[in-house]
Amino acid sequence: MAEERTLALVKPDAAEHTRGFIENAKEYGFYIVGQKVVWFTPSDAGIFYLEHKTKSFYTTLCLHMASGPVTAMVLEHPLGETIKRWRMRIADTDPNNAADGTLRHRFGGGRKELHRNVVHGSANPKDAEREIALLFTGLELA
Ligand code: ATP
Ligand code: MG
Repeated sequence: MAEERTLALVKPDAAEHTRGFIENAKEYGFYIVGQKVVWFTPSDAGIFYLEHKTKSFYTTLCLHMASGPVTAMVLEHPLGETIKRWRMRIADTDPNNAADGTLRHRFGGGRKELHRNVVHGSANPKDAEREIALLFTGLELA
């Protein structure tokens, strides 16, 4: 059976560190089974983050996600539990609380604004499936 997959996004505030995220994912054993650069409109971002529609930060988050290029990657880990493994790599939502060595610490540490937290990881299998289908066609995935 195919391993679980997750969607990773390098957010616009970390575009200059894209290579660092890719190298780190590979270093920790993730296979990149799909990768492309996308540029969200605020409305695309709104669909992507629909679960947060009622939150006070929704508009700020959507405008931020549309403020620059985003590198989207579909990741798979040969040892399984890809979603949990990637969430552990990226760490706490607030980069100011992210543990040493995690991606939100390395590339987002010291940020004051919570929406500028450099990277996304799907939260669960249902979300991963929805997010991957939103951004990739079957032909774009290994
Ligand atoms: P992501 O879904 O991007 O991987 P997450 O799952 O860690 O992040 P969520 O609760 O899903 O966190 O929030 C989605 C995004 O909304 C966060 O990554 C962050 O950019 C932004 N966000 C969350 N909480 C706040 C907040 N209180 N103020 C501003 N922005 C926030
Ligand atoms: Mg989330």
